[in-house]
Order: sequence, then structure tokens, then C-alpha cells
Amino acid sequence: MSKNASNRNMAVAASERAHFPAWQTEPCPAWCCIAPHSVNEMPEDRSHFSPYYVSDMPLTLQGEIYRDGFVLDVVAVYLQQHYRETEPRVRIEKNGCNDGIEMTLAEARQLLAGLTDALAKASA
Ligand SMILES: [Zn+2]
Repeated sequence: MSKNASNRNMAVAASERAHFPAWQTEPCPAWCCIAPHSVNEMPEDRSHFSPYYVSDMPLTLQGEIYRDGFVLDVVAVYLQQHYRETEPRVRIEKNGCNDGIEMTLAEARQLLAGLTDALAKASA
């Protein structure tokens, strides 16, 4: 690489870094909907989040009985990646609670394959 090309790359990198806080060493993943992040985010809160890929999908077989009737549980699916992690995790949130299911991408692929297989068998 020539010195000019190297200087240009450093200038671009510096220019890109100007668009995110000092704690953020890499740009947000393309799927992050938080950008720009705040310089005031606490270390444990410095995560990239995707939009919901499934949002408040009712589960017709699950819910709670309340005084005014039966309220269905809902699920949402999104990605989350702490800024120091190497890949996102897939999160399945139930009823808006953070204590849902989270899995690695490999685990999510395995689950998807199992669901796809089950659906194919159910439709056969
Ligand atoms: Zn982000």
C-alpha cells in the first residue's frame, strides 16, 4: 500500500470514528438500529440491537387467565451483541421480558433446521 493510500485509509477511519463514541472501536453492525450510540452508555449497556424481526406475535396455545379473560402470551425476536462480543446472539423475548431465550447463531440455525423439519413433516 502506498503512503498516500495508507494516509487516506487513516483519514477515512478517523472520519468514521467521529460518528460514534470513543468507547466504540468498530462501527455498528448493519442491523443495529441504535446508532448513533451515546457516549454515556454504561459498559454493561453497550450493546447493538436489531429491530424486531418478529414483534408481539400471539401464541394461541399459551397465555394467562385474568379477571377480564384469557390474555395470550406474545413473543418477539431480535439480535443483540455487546460491543466486545464477536457475534450477535438471537433473543426470543416472551411478553416483553428480558428473561426469554437467548442463543448463539449456531444454536439458532440448529433450532431453525429442527423447526423447518418439523413443519415439513407436519405438512406432508
Ligand atoms: Zn450499534
